[in-house]
Amino acid sequence: MKVILMGPPGAGKGTQARQIAEKYRIPQLSTGDMLRAAVKAGTPVGLKAKSAMESGSLVTDDIVVGIIADRTQEADCKNGYLLDGFPRTLAQAEALDTMLAQRKQAIDKVIDIRCDDEPLVGRITGRRTCSQCGEGYHLQFKPTKKSGVCDKCGGSLTQRADDNEATVRSRLAVYHQQTAPLIDYYRKQGNFSSVDGMQGMDQVLASLCAILG
Ligand code: ADP
Ligand code: ADP
Ligand code: ZN
Repeated sequence: MKVILMGPPGAGKGTQARQIAEKYRIPQLSTGDMLRAAVKAGTPVGLKAKSAMESGSLVTDDIVVGIIADRTQEADCKNGYLLDGFPRTLAQAEALDTMLAQRKQAIDKVIDIRCDDEPLVGRITGRRTCSQCGEGYHLQFKPTKKSGVCDKCGGSLTQRADDNEATVRSRLAVYHQQTAPLIDYYRKQGNFSSVDGMQGMDQVLASLCAILG
């Protein structure tokens, strides 16, 4: 099962992808997570990606396509994977199609999590992540029991450097300009669906699972 989860920043891609990955036993491939790990480790890819990520613009297509081409060849991707945050441009979608065609493979489902812009600003500025296990939280919508401490592992919560209001607004603009056109691209391929991302997290998950079967 190969699935693409699309949606604007803050739509809930990461939140949902973690749960789907667990339920369907396929890995969650988040280009954002992989790029943040590369920046942290100071790898050549990380050095190239850093400034684009900080300003809320996109990292170049060749970097993310390269990351995905390599990652999808790893053993845990044999029975499928869930793409979270990739593709984000038409060029990335076309590169993915070419890569899969060469491997005689195809994407099974593309699901868009639809959201209004304004609530996304609050979702992103309130987003917190466990520095140890990566669990996602929200100051209002998914608070931890003890302030600043992960419920699951006791790790301390961090806020992403790009999760401030100014950067969020440019990420939303980038989304509308460069990523939203992919909805039409995938609709034409016939394996596209969308869910209402303004519902509560559990309802969004139920809607996604209904599509995935
Ligand atoms: P994305 O990966 O699409 O950028 P996240 O999954 O990280 O989005 O979610 C962004 C923030 O919004 C997180 O803090 C998360 O806890 C919260 N969130 C996710 N889904 C919902 C929802 N349906 N309702 C309210 N808050 C949500
Ligand atoms: P969010 O879900 O909140 O938008 P991500 O973690 O998916 O954030 O991405 C964070 C940043 O990483 C993006 O703003 C962008 O700079 C970079 N990035 C992630 N995925 C891609 C991609 N497929 N193409 C280009 N840049 C990407
Ligand atoms: Zn944790």
